[in-house]
Amino acid sequence: MKLVFATHNKNKFIEVKAMLPSHIELLSLDDIDCHDPIPETARTIAGNAMLKAEFVRLHYQLDCFADDTGLEVRSLNNEPGVYSARYAGPENDAAANISKLLSNLQGIKDRSARFKTVIALTLKGHEVLFEGICEGTIITAPRGKDGFGYDPVFQPLGYDKTFAEMTLLEKSEIGHRGKAMRQLIDYLSDF
Ligand code: IMP
Repeated sequence: MKLVFATHNKNKFIEVKAMLPSHIELLSLDDIDCHDPIPETARTIAGNAMLKAEFVRLHYQLDCFADDTGLEVRSLNNEPGVYSARYAGPENDAAANISKLLSNLQGIKDRSARFKTVIALTLKGHEVLFEGICEGTIITAPRGKDGFGYDPVFQPLGYDKTFAEMTLLEKSEIGHRGKAMRQLIDYLSDF
């Protein structure tokens, strides 16, 4: 079965491809010659996932799934949430986002946070949503060099390593995207 994963993020494509069973041929946006930026203008994580999947269905008539993820920090009213990528500005600069987050958390005791991923699948004219959550805490200074985004400051609950200190496999097993992906894979096994 051919499925497009609607992301321009190469790290995410590699992470997701590694999780999928071999009967699913995963196509990237490059594979289908889609080089346009896909709109992410919704006000919720689920809304953005649906926008992206719909975009590919509408313009390329292909079955597709898209994910959207946000980091929700409890003491910051669940910010940055849907604005995680551009928290510190439109450049989507991970280091600047982390600096802003750490500075906004200075002096705050409750550093609990969670990553939330929503995957929207459009398949044979139907749309289905899957959600994965990973609870954790924001540490005070970045640690580790793997992963991307907020990985160096996010320590999942029950672990003493940040996501950036884990292997891809470890992160996938406990992470938000992995949890949502396993639901997607389970659903796809019926097709
Ligand atoms: P996206 O919706 O997956 O593009 O994610 C939006 C933003 O959330 C990214 O630009 C990152 O800043 C952050 N993010 C998403 N997934 C992860 C993750 O697995 N680890 C760390 N940061 C992430």
